[in-house]
Amino acid sequence: MNSSLRAIPKIDKILQEKCFVEYNQKLLAKITKEKIETLRAGIISKITQSVDYNKLVCDIDKAYAKVFEPSLKPLINATGVILHTNMGRSLISEDIIKRAMPVICNYSNLEYNLELGCRGERYAHVSTHLKELLSVEDVLVVNNNASAVFLVLNTFAKNKEVVVSRGELVEIGGSFRIPEVMSQSGAILKEVGATNKTKLSDYENAIGENTKMLMKVHQSNFTIEGFSEDTPYEKLKELSVQNNMIDYYDLGSGYIPKLPYNLGQKEHSLMEILKYNPSLVSFSGDKLFGSVQSGIIVGKKELIDKLKKNQLLRMLRIDKITLALLEESIKSYLKEEFDAIPTLSMLFASVDELEKRALQVQSKIGKEKCEVLQSETVMGGGTLPNRKFPTIVLHIKGKADKLEREFRKKFIIGRIESDKFLLDFRSIQKRDIEKLIKIVDDSIS
Ligand SMILES: *Cc1c(COP(=O)(O)O)cnc(C)c1O
Repeated sequence: MNSSLRAIPKIDKILQEKCFVEYNQKLLAKITKEKIETLRAGIISKITQSVDYNKLVCDIDKAYAKVFEPSLKPLINATGVILHTNMGRSLISEDIIKRAMPVICNYSNLEYNLELGCRGERYAHVSTHLKELLSVEDVLVVNNNASAVFLVLNTFAKNKEVVVSRGELVEIGGSFRIPEVMSQSGAILKEVGATNKTKLSDYENAIGENTKMLMKVHQSNFTIEGFSEDTPYEKLKELSVQNNMIDYYDLGSGYIPKLPYNLGQKEHSLMEILKYNPSLVSFSGDKLFGSVQSGIIVGKKELIDKLKKNQLLRMLRIDKITLALLEESIKSYLKEEFDAIPTLSMLFASVDELEKRALQVQSKIGKEKCEVLQSETVMGGGTLPNRKFPTIVLHIKGKADKLEREFRKKFIIGRIESDKFLLDFRSIQKRDIEKLIKIVDDSIS
């Protein structure tokens, strides 16, 4: 027998190594067996000449540690894009997490009626606070806005026609396209108008025997400029009342306070839409609303009651963790405590404040290595297309693509613009500044 094969240590000997005492023995044994098999195969095929015991122990240790490496890692988002869908859209503040903790870590009255001592309703919880905040008749919250759209169409328009403008047949990031969602839900799409123009008369002419709903979809992630016209929501609302139909606005990104930049005529806050007394409106909980992933449906009680009776709701049911966090976000809105909603505090941060933070970083790492510049960024998350916001960036001098890669390895995601590697302070958290200084300093010195 090959002498190297004889030199392969016994598994038990390795498991008893001092450095492994606190390790889970079952997992350790599995990894050790695999490593020894690899070693044996290496020796037989003559790739490995001899057994290095210390290296073997070290390899096993590394493989063990790798099992516990987190897959989801915190990043510093230095792209400037606040609602970055690839990086988790809205942030949840630590305050909100702390406030929601007692409900998440304990049993709760999630579906238990404390007054009557019997089964209660999951959806009643946030609805009380949301009704207060938005002054609407009723509310229902599901997993995300995509499921909200699906539920509304399936409940009210199965085998019925829904009239939508050709300018609003949007795709929101690959897997969500209005025409496809509509056909999956069983609703029949009745397209009207042209890509760039849809008039009220187009809707009027499309209404027939089998028409159930007039739907407006927020264009969200693109704009049509130039020779264009769309029918405002209030006109659709009037028409639907005249014809005894449901009007539904898929608003995409609902927001509450007035935003600090001019967003153009097509961006309406939730309040502006709700004053027309819509039948149904839905929006995402984690876009400009700045809370957890969820789909919020508001509108007429009679209609929301019907949504609650749809069997599908069980599949789209929102979890207690989400509910608890959402409730805390809504309470922050009621108190106008916008600091607890990071999406808004990032959006509201003044350019002067961002500049102060950028200068702080620059002063620590040296003017010769970087410069503070004014720039512009976008909101992201399929919201506010082509709307630029003022921001402040730190240009790190050097080869942009190389810097981008190096920073990414250290979990800082920046952006490249005109061959410059930039760290954008619009989306960098204030609490991350010290950490950022350290990493930047290490990376470029
Ligand atoms: C974002 C968006 C959706 C999908 O919402 P999710 O919460 O991502 O599921 C649907 N419709 C419109 C108009 C949107 O902007």
